[in-house]
Parts: sequence; structure tokens; C-alpha cells
Amino acid sequence: MGASIRRLDESVVNKIAAGEIIISPVNALKEMMENSIDAGATSLDVLVRDGGIKLLQISDNGSGISKEDLPILCERFTTSKLSKFEDLESIATYGFRGEALASISHIARVTITTKTAADRCAWKASYSDGKMLEPPKAVAGKDGTVILVEDLFYNMPSRLQALRSPSEEYGKILDVIGRYSIHSKSIGFSCKKFGDSQFALTVKMDSTDEDRIRTVFGNSVSKNLLDIALDADTELNIMSVKGKVSNPDFNCKRSIPPVFFINNRLVSCNPLARALRQVYSNYLPKGNKPFIHLSIMIDPKSVDVNVHPTKREVRFLHQDQIIEKINSQLNENLSHIDTSRSFKASS
Ligand code: ADP
Ligand code: MG
Repeated sequence: MGASIRRLDESVVNKIAAGEIIISPVNALKEMMENSIDAGATSLDVLVRDGGIKLLQISDNGSGISKEDLPILCERFTTSKLSKFEDLESIATYGFRGEALASISHIARVTITTKTAADRCAWKASYSDGKMLEPPKAVAGKDGTVILVEDLFYNMPSRLQALRSPSEEYGKILDVIGRYSIHSKSIGFSCKKFGDSQFALTVKMDSTDEDRIRTVFGNSVSKNLLDIALDADTELNIMSVKGKVSNPDFNCKRSIPPVFFINNRLVSCNPLARALRQVYSNYLPKGNKPFIHLSIMIDPKSVDVNVHPTKREVRFLHQDQIIEKINSQLNENLSHIDTSRSFKASS
């Protein structure tokens, strides 16, 4: 005899959903950074305590959130970005599901301080389980938004146990901020560990692409860069491919996972990573690894960003042909350098 079917409690459903989106502090960080970028921020400052488990705070100078929106801000499926399903096909902002803040508020204590340019003061509100705890309080504050997340997974002990050490979680956070800061031109970033006087990372708003790469990945990468670019291809629905990759002189044994942005989303694309490494293997001494940063703009209609709740993985049409095309461009650029060098050496 089977057990009878019962409807799950709403708070259980919300916690399950939250656990799918926020697996570790870095997922919360990524969602909040994307919200700040969506809000037009040009400066983004992150503060981290205990790998983001105890405290994770992001301050931005974006549009702010109006006081009227604060009561429903952390409810599930509330968003200012998507209104109909068809919009999913042309969505330009990072967020669209209205789930991130809700999720975070189900598994952490969330406090938001925000001010729009039209407001005379900032408003502060705290949230738990999707709900605002008290009416917003008027406080002093600058234009923009500060989101403070404390005690992540306080109500999910098993998830807390499964986390890596705080220093490893902190490493993942720094890595993602670094990746966004080399991609997001004209946005300044900083990251600091709670209690430290020094920043772990600072990228100025007006830094050049090369400066950004130097700050995040070091001098040896930034002085060995090669531009790569592909024009629009209407048949493959690509609008552009641009990037900076390491040249054959880049001497590095450490593997740096490629920095791929597709339509401005940080994604992983294993088939592409594998293919590009294969090309490099013909140019690099054995054991050396390349640095790769590519920004691929594809017609939003041919990208499915909704494959996974963390939006980390994307699928797109003509994947094999697009990879092939990028591959041969990389091959051409690398071979060009190789021949000019052997020419120099022999002359
Ligand atoms: P989504 O990004 O999918 O819309 P979120 O839960 O991430 O959903 O955010 C909900 C809403 O809160 C956003 O649509 C946006 O209007 C607002 N918001 C969140 N973070 C910020 C921010 N840093 N600055 C301005 N508005 C924000
Ligand atoms: Mg969002």
C-alpha cells in the first residue's frame, strides 16, 4: 500500500528551490553581482566573512530600488525584468526569473539598504523566508543598493556541512569577481575580506582590458596576449566573437579555466574549452596551459539560458559549427605568430 500523497508545505518548496539555485556562497554572489550590473552600476564592492557563509555584502551605485517595491522584493517570481514568456527569447539582462533574492532570503538573513536618485534618504529593510520583516526604515545612504547576506544556510545544516573550507569558498568568490571584472568594461570592482585593511582585488572603473587582466591574472598573462575576433555570421546566428587569449610565449603550467561570456553571462562551455585547448596543444610546450577570455554574442533566440537554475550552463544552436569557426580563427592567429617568430629567428 503506497503512502498517501500530500501537498508539500510552501516553505519546504521554497527551501528546496533555493537550494537548487544557491549551492554555495559564490552562487549568491554571482546573482547579486548580476543584479547590480542589471541596475546599471559602475562600481561594485564586495565584503566577505568566513568564505561568505557568515557574511556576504555587495554595495553598488546602481539605480536603487524604490521604497514601494521593497515589500515584495524577496517574494518568489517578482522581477522588474521579464513579463511574458516570449521575452525570455530576447532577454538582455542577467536576471529574469525573479528567484535569486527570494531564494537567498529562504536560506539566509537578508538586509537591504537602497536609495534611488529620486529618494531623499535611503531605505533599509530585512527579510526572512521571502517576507519583509518590518516596514522599511529611513536611513542615511548613497544612491545605489547594499545587500547584506548573513548566516547562509543557517537553516540547512547538511548544506552547511557539505561546504568547502571558508578559504576555498573565498577563493571561488574571488575567482568569479575576477572573471566579471575582466569582462565588464567601465565597471570598477573591489573585494575585501572582513577585518582586512587591504583589498584582495581592486579594478578601477576606467581600467583598460589589459589592466584588468593584469590585476586579476597577473603580469605574465597580460604581457602575452593576443586579440581574437570574428565577424557576424548570420547563418550561425553569431553577432560577434571577441577576446584576448595567450600567445605561444605564455609559459604557465597552472590550468586557468577559460573565461567564457555568452551574451554577457559567465558560462562554462566544456566542448568549446576542450576544442580550444586542442588547438593550443600544437603551439605550446607539453604541459603548458593557455589563458582564454572570449565574449561571444549570439542572437538571443538561438541561446537557451534556462537550462539550469544556476544559469551557469547554456546551450545554443549551431554549437559545433560555431566552435569549429572559433577554432580555425584561433589556429590562424597562433600560426601567424609562430611563422613570424621562426622568420625572425632564421633571419
Ligand atoms: P531577477 O534578477 O531575476 O529579476 P532577483 O531576485 O535577482 O530577480 O531580483 C529581483 C528584483 O530586485 C530585480 O528584478 C530588481 O528589480 C531588484 N533588484 C535586485 N537587486 C538589485 C540591485 N542591486 N539594484 C537595483 N535593483 C535590484
Ligand atoms: Mg537577479
